Amino acid sequence: MNTLYLAADPVEAHLLRDYLAARGIEVALPDLHAWGGRGDLPVNLYPRLLLRDESQRPAALAALAEWERPVHDRDDWRCACGETSPTTFERCWACGNERPSP
Ligand SMILES: [Zn+2]
Repeated sequence: MNTLYLAADPVEAHLLRDYLAARGIEVALPDLHAWGGRGDLPVNLYPRLLLRDESQRPAALAALAEWERPVHDRDDWRCACGETSPTTFERCWACGNERPSP
């Protein structure tokens, strides 16, 4: 199996494993035992996500790109009138049109 991604910490590794599993992509986390029973996190050890099926790499990389995209990019929405509204707005601030469904 080849490394797909290096997570920042075990928490992110687990989140990513579940995130990818929800998209039908199976990964293994072979490094997490290194944290077991330790009081301190080891430095310079980032948990690897290993791709179980190499043929899924393009889909996995696309999912990771979505994961890493800044929240404000993901959540702003663009109205038909061309203006962009923040995610908290249910209607366009400029013309009052309803937010389109994704
Ligand atoms: Zn508008």
